Amino acid sequence: MKNLAPKLNHEQYEQNFSELTPPFSPNSAVAEANRCLYCYDSPCTKACPTHIDIPAFIKKISTGNLKGSAKTILESNWVALTCAKACPVEVLCEGACVYNDKGEKPIEIGRLQRYAIDYFFSEGMPKIFNQAPSNGKSIGVIGSGPAGLACAAEAALLGFDVTIYEAKKAPGGLNTWGIAPYKMRQADSLLEVELVKSFGVIIKTGTTIGTDISFDDILKKHDAVFIGIGLGKSTKLNIPGENLDGVCDAIEFIEEVKTERWQSVKVGRKVAVIGAGNTAIDAATEAKRLGADFVTIIYRRSKAEMPAYEFEYLLAKKDGVIFNFLTNPVKIIGNNHVEAIECVKMELKEADSRGKRKPYSIEGTEFVISIDMVIKAVGQNSKADFLSSVPGIRLNNGIIAVDTITYQTGNPKVFAGGDCINGGKEVVNAAYDGKRAAHGIKKFLLGEE
Ligand SMILES: Cc1cc2nc3c(=O)[nH]c(=O)nc-3n(C[C@H](O)[C@H](O)[C@H](O)COP(=O)(O)OP(=O)(O)OC[C@H]3O[C@@H](n4cnc5c(N)ncnc54)[C@H](O)[C@@H]3O)c2cc1C
Repeated sequence: MKNLAPKLNHEQYEQNFSELTPPFSPNSAVAEANRCLYCYDSPCTKACPTHIDIPAFIKKISTGNLKGSAKTILESNWVALTCAKACPVEVLCEGACVYNDKGEKPIEIGRLQRYAIDYFFSEGMPKIFNQAPSNGKSIGVIGSGPAGLACAAEAALLGFDVTIYEAKKAPGGLNTWGIAPYKMRQADSLLEVELVKSFGVIIKTGTTIGTDISFDDILKKHDAVFIGIGLGKSTKLNIPGENLDGVCDAIEFIEEVKTERWQSVKVGRKVAVIGAGNTAIDAATEAKRLGADFVTIIYRRSKAEMPAYEFEYLLAKKDGVIFNFLTNPVKIIGNNHVEAIECVKMELKEADSRGKRKPYSIEGTEFVISIDMVIKAVGQNSKADFLSSVPGIRLNNGIIAVDTITYQTGNPKVFAGGDCINGGKEVVNAAYDGKRAAHGIKKFLLGEE
């Protein structure tokens, strides 16, 4: 890259990536728990994809029963610490809190959940779960993201022998390698991995299925297989200049930031992020916090169509990220290194089959922005090579089709969940899928619900 942003000192990096939401003190946790109205129809529980009994765990906090509170939470969600810190609570549980209807601040459910789960981990993960005796059947789980971890934890407690195969050197999927460090650190994710291992689950890291071991061998070795491989790299832009030095994939950039070796992450002085989903916002915000002077998001539709959540957008704005809506990149300019990006203004016309208005370029509105780095964040591809090696599965637009109750794929021995079946949602969806799939596998192998 031609112009790198100047390095900051360690304290500045730590400050820039410090937690956005601090933990509750014991007094403030109890005070917040006591605000809960314990609604008879608990809209918060309905809004949570893992259906945690939220009023029950909050009640237990208010009476000082933190172990019981953590048990209530974890029984529904094996990655509850990640979800407490990274879930978009504004549009899930807290968004459904009845206090919103009264024009009052909703209960801080995410922070209360974190309070109970922090206690559980600080107490060294007390043994509070019943584990069924071994049933002699084994499950191979591919991928140790939230979907794989949830499936493994639940299956281990149901009495299965479980082995997770993970391509990366450290487990946890995007909880470890993707979620913005100011929401959660790698250490949080690794605590959840330790919990899953405490149920006897074996995790083989640095093991890519399809390369180090064939899928067929995994299928022969285990009685059932769960696929939780997530998605692949960012989609290509397909414009000239995409191969210049200084153009990178948002997922790879974010992964480097997650290592917390801030000094060694290369970031330009002037950065353009292409796309306006949550990943684009994270990449832009992280580039700014690493010291970039100028960061702009370039998005071909308007703010109204932007896929990112409003609170993520506001965070980026607060960090000084500039939004170029109704703008499309047409060419990345440079001689070996990125020097500028040529864009064109867009207008929205008729809606497509999904009701989304189509963007069209406006002739003669081309303009150039001087930049040193381009981060591609226009969605992730599915792992087509891997998926083509799995016999019998059916794909729907590149994602795996499953039975919505059992999570069984077209191959009866193979189950799947998480981003590879939904095209990219949230951690909480992956956690739910993995847990449900463990029960689908139990039904398939043991004939029991
Ligand atoms: C940058 C970014 C930020 C995000 N931030 C948030 C957030 O703040 N809050 C939120 O709720 N959600 C967030 N998400 C979404 C969330 O991270 C995902 O929905 C969730 O992690 C999906 O879980 P998963 O288990 O399906 O896949 P992943 O977490 O992607 O895990 C898949 C795992 O499978 C492994 N794997 C893949 N192929 C193989 C193979 N062939 N052999 C062995 N292992 C393999 C991968 O290495 C990986 O560890 C974010 C996503 C991204 C990309």
